[in-house]
Amino acid sequence: MTPTVEYLEERFDTFNRMCFDGALPRIPIKLSGARSFVGRLTYRPVRDWRGRVVRHEDFVLRISTRFDLPETEIEDTLIHEMIHCWIAFNGIKDSATHGREFRAKMKEINTLHGRHLTISHKSTPEELDRDTRIREHHVCVSRLADGRTAVTVAASTCVAKIRRAFRWSPTVRSSAWFESRDPWFNRFPRCRTPKLFPVDPVLLQQHLDGGDTLW
Ligand SMILES: [Zn+2]
Repeated sequence: MTPTVEYLEERFDTFNRMCFDGALPRIPIKLSGARSFVGRLTYRPVRDWRGRVVRHEDFVLRISTRFDLPETEIEDTLIHEMIHCWIAFNGIKDSATHGREFRAKMKEINTLHGRHLTISHKSTPEELDRDTRIREHHVCVSRLADGRTAVTVAASTCVAKIRRAFRWSPTVRSSAWFESRDPWFNRFPRCRTPKLFPVDPVLLQQHLDGGDTLW
């Protein structure tokens, strides 16, 4: 089906009562023609004089009409975005974009209301950029035999093991290690085994300290 704004607003109010005790603010819902997402929530952080986020404002929930999805999937997408809204609006600290708090709420809704919410939808660029926690990362940048550039964020206890593995890997032509606190690297899983995540080298360069050219 192709949802309308009126339909989504009615569903929003219903799920708000059913799953969130009516605690969510009524936020603008817009239709989008995007191919890159089915549902997306955007909002703006408001900071105090120290730069700490005190609340979030300007919530907008977008649902793409580009895909012909069954009604239940549109509803599940709407509820998924409503969980993001619930977390941001209440200032809940979560461990990741779809972290512990998100999953707990999702599980509760699935169990109590027989829904099939997932987090399998690919995180949008906005969602990834919103993860701004400062953590120490052991980053390995590899140039692959096929010319691509790849990133590996290693668990600190596995750096030596992964370094050795890459040295002997036919896939890896060369690699270099960096320490970084740039939250951009939060989007990569912490690897205990030698995994390679191909990235855009120009984008990567912006997130390596000093901006030196790597190769
Ligand atoms: Zn999400």
